[in-house]
This record gives sequence, structure tokens and C-alpha cells, in this order.
Amino acid sequence: MLELSKYTKELSKYFSTSENILLVAHINPDGDAIGSQLALYHYLKSIGKNASMISPNNLQEFLKWMDGAELIDVFIRNRDKCRKLIGNADLIIMLDFNQTDRLGEAEDQVISSTAGKIIIDHHLNPQSFTDLIISDPSRCSTSEIVYELVSMLNEGHFRSKPFAEALYTGIITDTGNFEHGAYTSRTLRIVADLLDSGIEKEKILNLIYNNFSAERMRLQGFALNEKMVILPEFQTAYIILTRKDLEIYNHVKGDTEGFVNMPLSIKGIIFSALFIEKDGFIKLSFRSKGNFPVNEFASEYFLGGGHLNASGGEFPGNLESAVDFFLKTLRENFMRFNKNN
Ligand code: 5GP
Ligand code: MN
Repeated sequence: MLELSKYTKELSKYFSTSENILLVAHINPDGDAIGSQLALYHYLKSIGKNASMISPNNLQEFLKWMDGAELIDVFIRNRDKCRKLIGNADLIIMLDFNQTDRLGEAEDQVISSTAGKIIIDHHLNPQSFTDLIISDPSRCSTSEIVYELVSMLNEGHFRSKPFAEALYTGIITDTGNFEHGAYTSRTLRIVADLLDSGIEKEKILNLIYNNFSAERMRLQGFALNEKMVILPEFQTAYIILTRKDLEIYNHVKGDTEGFVNMPLSIKGIIFSALFIEKDGFIKLSFRSKGNFPVNEFASEYFLGGGHLNASGGEFPGNLESAVDFFLKTLRENFMRFNKNN
């Protein structure tokens, strides 16, 4: 585990010498990206900093309730304002990602900006494009890292409710509510402290997990019943959703979140894939159990990356060719990737 204390001096120097601090989440931001972004925002405001926030694209419904979420400027909705924020920033902190392509349309401007740049993240293999990289893949979430950093900077004094709610959200969403992911006893101690800060855990759990439309639940049933293919010889299952499938169930952004995890509940299945038809390409999500590195699978074959047990990527082409390519890749490489035996 990375000793985060070695960064506190440098971080506090960056904070004290910067006027305009911009916090950037990754494209298709998840609970951890927004949670860590908002938590750091609340902390920076508490020490009197001028902070602002950008997300490359829209937030999913289940994150919009968070305190401060309405202050996050969405690049593709307000390009001029976001370009100004990037242009005015003298410090840009990127949260929960480590590759420039996760910046979406903001990529070129952020890379060429002369502002100081920091990554705070827990993914493997950070790309080197910033002045400082605070990266610890042994942490369950970026939110856990932000908690530790703020605690060290502030000797544990800053614990506002919006800060604690944001970090709790980041931790529970990245661990599937403590079902998977690299959470540790240290994570649970952090969560204990967050709960002691007065957050309403029931309320948050309901807002995140019990807030689906009836159509989303029916889409889940349809995906499992009609669209899941099981390949016992490769201990693999995959689900394919076409645009038409999504239309029939009045799909909104975020509805398929979590679908890729479901096949892993089947006894013997160690690798799961979800194919979603997009405009001109196929979006893929991968999940695995044990020592099957889906991040390597995604980066070698599907222009993507991620974590050991959770990754994603893309296939430039139609669904049929994506599935053919996936099956061919699986046949040729399953033994190499399956390091469980
Ligand atoms: P999800 O399947 O939930 O969309 O993504 C799971 C994880 O895979 C994300 O946390 C992210 O680390 C990674 N990931 C998903 N899609 C991509 C992608 O297109 N490129 C890269 N580099 N990583 C991705
Ligand atoms: Mn994360």
C-alpha cells in the first residue's frame, strides 16, 4: 500500500500557491469519480480556495442528488464555460482516471494547459502527462485516497456532511456496496468514520440502489432471460444489448449499470462481458473473479483498460463482428488469461 503521507507537503504547496483549482472527473463519471471530485471540492472551499468542477459528459440520475453536483459543469453541454474554466485554472486535479482519452472533448485543452496537473487515482499503469501522480491501485476507490489525503492535510478535522456523503458514495459504488473490489479493513475504518460524521446511510443507499424505473428492472430481467449466453468451456458468460432492446425498455443513461456483474453470480463463471450497441461502435464492459486480468484483456484487444476484475473498452464495428472477435479472442487466449489454476 502506497504511503500517501509523502504527498501531503507537495499537495498543500500546490493548494496554497494556486488561485483557481479545477477538479476534473472522467467521461461517463461513476460514483467514485463524482464522489471524490465533490469531496475534494468541499474541502478546498472550506480552506477558502476558488475551486470549480468539470465532467466531460452528463452525470447519471443516481448521482445528481449529491450536494454540489449541480455545480459540476458538463463539457459537452457548456463548452464555452468549460474552456474558460480550463483556461483560467492554475491547478488541474484529475480524479479517478489516469489516461488522457478519459477527458473526452476536454482532452486537448487539458493536455496543453500550462496549469500544474495532478492525478489522484487507483487504476493501474498511469499515463505520464501530469506533474504529480498520486496513484494507488491497492485502494478500493479514489474516494478512499481523497479521504486519507484530506485527513492528513487537515489532521482529521474536516468532516462536513456533504464531504462524508460524497466519499461514502464513492466507496460503496466502487465496491458494489462491499460485494467486490479491493476493499480492506482500512476501508471499513474509513466508512466507520464517515458514518460517525452524521450521514444518513439509509437515505443514500435508497437514492443509489432503490431508485430504478420499472422499465429498467424489466430490461434487467430481459437481459438475463433472453440475452445472456453461457460458455461453460470458457467459464464465461456474456450479454448483448442492441439499440432496439434499449429503445423498447425506454433506456436512460445508467440503466445497464451493474448488468455485467450479474453473470458472475453463476457457479463456475469467472469472466463476464456486456456488449452494448452504440452509434458506430460497440461499448464493452468486462468483469472477472480471481486472477483473470480483464484490464489486460481490454487493453490488448478492445482499446480499453481498467482494473484486474473490472474493465471496459470499445470495438469499432457492428455487434456481430464484435461478438465474433470476442469469441475468437477468447478461444485463442482464455488459457493465457486464466491464471486461477
Ligand atoms: P464499466 O464497465 O463500469 O464501464 O467500467 C469499469 C472500469 O473499466 C472503469 O472503472 C474504468 O476503469 C474501465 N473502463 C471502462 N471503459 C473504459 C474504456 O473505454 N477505456 C479505459 N481505458 N478504461 C475503461
Ligand atoms: Mn474508481
